Amino acid sequence: MKKRDLICTKCKKTFPIERSYPRCDICNEPLEVERVVTGKINKGNVLNQTILERYADFFPFAKIDKAISFHEGFTPLVRPLRLASELGIKDILFKNESQNPTWSFKDRGTVTGIQQAISLGYKRIGTVSTGNMAVSVAAYGAGVGLETFVLVSTSLPPEKLNPIAIYSPVLIRVDGDYGRLYFDSLEIGKQNDIYFINSDVPFRVEGSKTIAFEICEQMNFEVADYVVVPTSSGGNIRGILKGFEEFRLCGLINKVPKMVCAQASGCSPIYNTYSSHAEVISRVENPHTVAHAIENPYPPSGNEVLRRIKENGGTFVAVTDEEILQAQRRLAKIGIFGQPASAVSLAAVKKLRGQNLLDENDTVVCIVTGGGLKDTTVFGRHEAKIIDSPLEDLNELIGSGRQGYNRDERR
Ligand SMILES: [Zn+2]
Repeated sequence: MKKRDLICTKCKKTFPIERSYPRCDICNEPLEVERVVTGKINKGNVLNQTILERYADFFPFAKIDKAISFHEGFTPLVRPLRLASELGIKDILFKNESQNPTWSFKDRGTVTGIQQAISLGYKRIGTVSTGNMAVSVAAYGAGVGLETFVLVSTSLPPEKLNPIAIYSPVLIRVDGDYGRLYFDSLEIGKQNDIYFINSDVPFRVEGSKTIAFEICEQMNFEVADYVVVPTSSGGNIRGILKGFEEFRLCGLINKVPKMVCAQASGCSPIYNTYSSHAEVISRVENPHTVAHAIENPYPPSGNEVLRRIKENGGTFVAVTDEEILQAQRRLAKIGIFGQPASAVSLAAVKKLRGQNLLDENDTVVCIVTGGGLKDTTVFGRHEAKIIDSPLEDLNELIGSGRQGYNRDERR
């Protein structure tokens, strides 16, 4: 293990990196791995490299176990030119994280979390999740042969349970306060030697840094003005910001983009705290949004996201379900079918542009967090245009042009 500490994001107290408990003993805020100030990108062919190898200088691992990788990361950065002019901004790019092995960005933090669990000698891992992270940890745990505990709430429907169960983890439906489960699971892990890779733990944040690293490489180290991140627990946006900051400290880029914390208005605890000028996050009662993947009423990294994005000069925004669904349909027309949470970033850009908080000279990167087929219930919220025709009438129907075809929205 390289000599780096864990540091409390609030009081700055340091802890040894071998510590598995992810929060500070004094203020109970999240810990994070000390920033990297010297490092370079390893050369090599990305077609057969892993993110852990390419960016090895930026992780504190003494040794990398290549066998734990499912070749996560190295996802496309899509640049739809027509959409930029439609929005009236210079450039918009989409980091398509639905191209990961379990169809979400979570795989990056899962591989770094498991690498750390193995480094510390753990034989058992776990997570608390309602979707993307449960699938990811179950898959990687199965791949590496660790006993894997996935704790979900009793309300999880079968279409979300089955994609977790396929990997055969110890899948437990927990009857009780789901919000408390995040914290209780960490205690249970401590007592039972289970390394819990929850949403915003230090080594999951380390994995999310690689989203920023790849964006820098894909943009030839020219830095976007804004990076928009759909935000739930806060771990991913923290990781992406940390990634940009480490590349700047290492001299690979000359500035850090402004981060936009984008939430769904049906569950926007971080945005609410920002707009009411409060200092600490309050729990959202009765959260409800079509963007289930980011429906976290009391984000464990909420306070830290608030502190860091303010320092960074970024902003906070909340978008309605209708705006999210409209953005989801628009994204589909650039070849990206993201889950509703993923569409929050495009909906946020539209809103910020409408408010003139983005201007015509801005370049914006949107994070598409996960794939659309993970949430098929949303099809009920979209109009499906389907025409029935007897075979003998088909030529006439198509020839008549009566079928109607919407040509106005393209890449
Ligand atoms: Zn502290």
